[in-house]
Amino acid sequence: MEERKLNIVLLGPPGAGKGTQADILKKAFDLLHVSTGDLLREAVKAESPVGRKASEYMERGELVPDRIVTELVKERLKQPDAKRGVILDGYPRTKAQAEALDAALNELGKAMDLVLYMKTSEDVAVQRLSGRRVCRKCGKNHHVTNMPPSAEGVCDICGGELYQRKDDNPETVKNRLRVYEDSTKDLVGYYRGKGLLREVNGDISAQKLFEDIKSLFKKEGFS
Ligand code: AMP
Repeated sequence: MEERKLNIVLLGPPGAGKGTQADILKKAFDLLHVSTGDLLREAVKAESPVGRKASEYMERGELVPDRIVTELVKERLKQPDAKRGVILDGYPRTKAQAEALDAALNELGKAMDLVLYMKTSEDVAVQRLSGRRVCRKCGKNHHVTNMPPSAEGVCDICGGELYQRKDDNPETVKNRLRVYEDSTKDLVGYYRGKGLLREVNGDISAQKLFEDIKSLFKKEGFS
C-alpha cells in the first residue's frame, strides 16, 4: 500500500457485517478499527460514568446521545495509533455525528477519504444478528451457521466463552433496524453530497465483499 493514510467509514445497518469486514480490512491495510459499539460495551463492562449512562439506551436498541459517543470517538482518534489510518464502524450514525466527526478530524489535521455504504437487505441482517455469538474474552464475532466455531460455545481464536449480545434478541433487533432507517437517511445524503459515498453489497460473503472493496480502493488510488 502506498504512503497515503486511509480514513474510512463503514456505513450500514446492524447486521451488515461491518465488524467482520473491519477485521479483514484492518489486517490487510494496517488500519485502526474503531467501533463505537465496542467502545460503549467496554464502558458498560467497566461501569464507568459513560457506561452507566449508555447502558439503558443500548439495551433498548436506541442511540446513545451524540455528545457521549462523539467524545469517545474524539478521544480514540487522538491516540498515536490512529495516525496510521482508521476504519470507523458504527459511527457516525446521524448527520449531527457526521458533522461533529468532520470538525474533530479537521482539528486533528485529518480528513475522511471514503464512506463505504454496505447496503444490506433486512432478511440477511436479521439472520446474521440472531445467530451472532461473540467471544467474552477477545470480542471476536462468530455465527451459529455462517461462521460456526469448531467447538460449540468456544471461541476459535482464544478459547473464550461465546455469548449472545443482549441487544441481538429479536425484539431489540427490530428496533435497532428501525432506528437505523430513521437516523441514517440524512447521513447517506450528507456523504453522497460530499462525493465520499460508495455503495457496496452487504448481502454477499465477507470475503467476496473484501475483494470488491480492494478493487474499489484500487480504482480510487488507495491500493
Ligand atoms: P453496534 O455494536 O454498532 O450495533 O452498537 C450497539 C449499540 O451501541 C447501538 O444499538 C447503540 O445503542 C449504541 N451505539 C453504537 N454506536 C453508536 C453511535 N454512533 N451513536 C449512538 N449510539 C451508538
